[in-house]
Amino acid sequence: MKIFINGQFFEKKDAKVSVFDHGFLYGDGAFEGIRSYNGLVFKLNEHIGRLFETAHTMMIHIPVTKQQLAKHVVETLKKNNLRDAYIRLIVTRGEGDLGLDPRKCYGKPNIIIITDKIVLYPAELYQKGLEIITVPTMRNHNEALNPQLKSLNYLNNILAKIEANNSGFSEAIMLDGQGYVAECTGDNIFILKDGVLATPYNGRLRGITRDAVLALAAKNKIQTLERLMTRHEIFNADECFLTGTAAEIIPVVRVDGRLIADGKPGKVTQKMMKLFHEMTRKAGVKY
Ligand code: PMP
Repeated sequence: MKIFINGQFFEKKDAKVSVFDHGFLYGDGAFEGIRSYNGLVFKLNEHIGRLFETAHTMMIHIPVTKQQLAKHVVETLKKNNLRDAYIRLIVTRGEGDLGLDPRKCYGKPNIIIITDKIVLYPAELYQKGLEIITVPTMRNHNEALNPQLKSLNYLNNILAKIEANNSGFSEAIMLDGQGYVAECTGDNIFILKDGVLATPYNGRLRGITRDAVLALAAKNKIQTLERLMTRHEIFNADECFLTGTAAEIIPVVRVDGRLIADGKPGKVTQKMMKLFHEMTRKAGVKY
């Protein structure tokens, strides 16, 4: 496996950055998880756009253009002969002295691209559906650390994931500071009620899969709504599913012990899974 670091390729065992990198010391960096399907990188420009937005807010200057970065992602995939891959694109603030002040860094962000595979859930869960719970760790507030930032500091989500794991679950709902549903630890959440597909607009990362699903639904005459959502509404939804680059679309059939409808993946969920699958085979940056 060849890994891209700042314009050069390294074998996995040699792919290293300094322990003085503030990405390592403080989670001071940004990242993206991207997928390619049969030689097409899905929503590459959208992922790179989100990475640049996170970096801009963090005042990390990415030393290459968006076009160059997209080219490097494609080069890395080609170098590894991967047609179907999970891509991890990382930009850290780079090396610096100890102390969290970014001015202690030497102004040379590290760009790292790893191309590999990922399996988040066993295939049978995509047929049967997932059971999830709500955890006490709430999602970061806009005013503290905006969840739109896809930074290397994922402790908020990791703590929630640990709570899910401790109770025997793989994924969990996180609420925002006001008790509304925000998202899951690594996925966005959707419900279907009376034919309307709804997803929270608050307290969550603006997932690229989420946006793709909203667009696909609209194109297929399914009404969509971004709005506040309570757990009560999820418990009483007709259907529920999660979206994310790694998870893709996965049905949810039980939440906090409550069965969602008849406890089977819903028709619209299955339709969205099919449409999404078709979209990933057709749309993307070719390499
Ligand atoms: N929410 C969180 C917290 C995530 O980490 C992810 C995965 N990036 C998502 C939602 C889904 O986003 P996307 O569809 O862009 O992968």
